[in-house]
Amino acid sequence: MTQLDKKLNKIDDIFEFTSHERFQDIHFKWNEKLNLKAIVAIHSTKFGAPLGGCRFIEYPNTDSAIIDALRLARGMSYKNAMAGLEHGGGKAVIIKPRHIPDRKAFFEAFGEFVHELGGRYITAKDSGTTLEDMDIIATKTPYVASTSEMVDPSPFTALGVKQGILAAVKHRFNQDNLDGLHVAIQGVGYVGYPLAAHLHELGARLTVCDIDETNVQRCVDEFGASSVHPDEIYSVDCDIFSPCALGAIINDETIPVLKAKIIAGAANNQLAQVRHGQALLDKGILYAPDYIVNAGGVIHAVHKYNKKSDQEAHDKIINLYSTLLDIFEKAKHAGKPTNIVADEIAYKMLHDEDA
Ligand code: NAD
Repeated sequence: MTQLDKKLNKIDDIFEFTSHERFQDIHFKWNEKLNLKAIVAIHSTKFGAPLGGCRFIEYPNTDSAIIDALRLARGMSYKNAMAGLEHGGGKAVIIKPRHIPDRKAFFEAFGEFVHELGGRYITAKDSGTTLEDMDIIATKTPYVASTSEMVDPSPFTALGVKQGILAAVKHRFNQDNLDGLHVAIQGVGYVGYPLAAHLHELGARLTVCDIDETNVQRCVDEFGASSVHPDEIYSVDCDIFSPCALGAIINDETIPVLKAKIIAGAANNQLAQVRHGQALLDKGILYAPDYIVNAGGVIHAVHKYNKKSDQEAHDKIINLYSTLLDIFEKAKHAGKPTNIVADEIAYKMLHDEDA
């Protein structure tokens, strides 16, 4: 898969990539008047209608937007499959123009585009889009899984991360609680703060950092956490490092200074590159694959969208513990990095006829 990821840096290889990864289709919408250039990539419908957010950021060119849509759609297939959701993976990318003459008309046109796909893609909020944008889209199509009427998914993401940390602690230290363990949390915002509350309740000692001093202070006051400067969080002498702020923070610069034995956090795309999973394994650090550990929010949102019970969503989030334990055990048995094993399991689920 690494090979293909490298090849997909060139749009010329798009058919080779989409054929190996068995993408279903890619849709384009261009509305010249509104400056709307949108791409919807549909990766898999095996487990149900593809669901994934709508990213609205600037891109240097159309190639990079298409590549982003493809990678993100595949990522959503893996995430939804591993979370046991009855949805496939898809993603929308809108190339953010310098100037949007009319944001309402812009997102109405995008909503019409989603509707034209007839439920083949369900959209949601992602980087650059707001709940207000989703509300506008919802005036044109029912295929929207996040609107301002829905609750913030972050506490459910935090619950899933707690489950991930407990699974990693079970596997690495053969311990069922967090007594005597020290967790360093990078970013105590919407997910990091409720996560800190859970971990404090379970007896963990906390060190936190954030670029927002208010966020740090409430953890110091409420949970007796220590604090460090954001640059120092990687080298904290802790048992567990929980990245809950930024992507690509596990890289060639940070791995040498890490002292934690476990990495489990909410941030998306924690590994700067796939190979950094192997580097963590070589260093004896157990990595909880991010797209599994941070699935609590999407699990909750999808259950709300499908009008299923909160209890069912809660049970699925709690079950992330078993999913992760299974991955850790398989990875140990195979001597492979956990990120590779997770991808292999997801790929098999999606593409094996009898899976
Ligand atoms: P957030 O913006 O509320 O929290 C991030 C926190 O990190 C903020 O308090 C911010 O001040 C802090 N921060 C930013 N840069 C930092 C730095 N360099 N060092 C230390 N702290 C820094 O976001 P969130 O909703 O809590 O999400 C956290 C991460 O988890 C993000 O990567 C997000 O993509 C991912 N995620 C969130 C959810 C969810 O349900 N909110 C679901 C899946 C994944």
